[in-house]
Amino acid sequence: MKPISKLTGKPIITDNSIIEIRHYLHHYPELSGQEYQTAGYIVEQLQKLSPTAIYQGIAGTGVAAIFDSGNAGKSLLFRCELDALPIQEMNADGYRSCYDGISHQCGHDGHMAIILDLAKRIAENPPKRGRVVLLFQPAEETGEGARAVVADPQFSSIRCDECFALHNLPDYPLGKVIVRSGTFNCASRGMAIYLSGRTAHAAHPETGISPRLALATLLQSFNDIPQQIHTDDLKMITVVHCDMGEKTFGTSPADACIMATLRSETDSTMQQLVNRCIELVEQLAKQYRLSYRVEWADIFDASVNDESCVEQIIQASKITGNKVALREEPFRWSEDFGALSGAMRGAMFAFGAGENQPQIHNPDYCFPDELISQGSAIFFEVYRQLL
Ligand SMILES: [Zn+2]
Ligand SMILES: [Zn+2]
Repeated sequence: MKPISKLTGKPIITDNSIIEIRHYLHHYPELSGQEYQTAGYIVEQLQKLSPTAIYQGIAGTGVAAIFDSGNAGKSLLFRCELDALPIQEMNADGYRSCYDGISHQCGHDGHMAIILDLAKRIAENPPKRGRVVLLFQPAEETGEGARAVVADPQFSSIRCDECFALHNLPDYPLGKVIVRSGTFNCASRGMAIYLSGRTAHAAHPETGISPRLALATLLQSFNDIPQQIHTDDLKMITVVHCDMGEKTFGTSPADACIMATLRSETDSTMQQLVNRCIELVEQLAKQYRLSYRVEWADIFDASVNDESCVEQIIQASKITGNKVALREEPFRWSEDFGALSGAMRGAMFAFGAGENQPQIHNPDYCFPDELISQGSAIFFEVYRQLL
């Protein structure tokens, strides 16, 4: 895609220019799985810091820098995300996205700046034992990136004892650390159910097979499956879309589609929800003589925080002077970090992005630059405690 405007100059990490680097990344956003320019720029900056090794092409566009002491000791991974969103941003700043309809409205530009700033701090204070991995992961927004990183053959070289991540979060005071042990983000997955019968003339619907009753029953049944929203075992089904037939008065329909998002606190509850939904569709398809298919998308595992890793984040925040709030319930939104913290011990925290800040994924959201040095300082303290 051709940029519609250009920032002049390319900031270099050794310039003490981390805010300009965030703006540069913001100006050139790329969608999930297509983060080639972004990854290339990250590699250029990392190379200036002379890490022990840089891995590229992890799960497509992923990049990892390794700082290895060469001595025995713990290994730590810090992760950020490379991808932007298909959203037209409303910000008028000079560094606004140069591509129509693509922008960093989740703040991953800020997360990358935090990890680059951390890389700089670590390069200046290299580990004396153990090693550190800084992972720039592709395709978080689709829920595919972290899982693909874990499945990549290069993962064995970057796997660590523990992994850490943060996500900025509007509505909370700037720089506040929000964390909990156990499930931090819920599991979720998109379910699309396609029902197929046979069209008929609208005057003789009895000669066709309409999916209307199966569709109506499904909508009702999703409501009837027990949903627990405020418990320690959250489960929810949110119907997000449905349609049936064509917009014509002469035809009794053959096809219907219903889409819903399943959400749960644990992966095992998700499996129960999935089984229950499939059972229901099978039964209704049989009852109404329909064929059907179920497709799944945007599959996120629950992101589960390890207690000792949470403790490290709390201790680090105390040292940096960032206030900490322990959350009683998991966040309902999903994060694919769960795939990494499922492969090693780990924890992520939410990082207050300001109470008057628009929500992430909103067209007027913008990552607050003040968080860059605060975020890298917290991660640096985690690093200092453990290595
Ligand atoms: Zn997002
Ligand atoms: Zn995000």
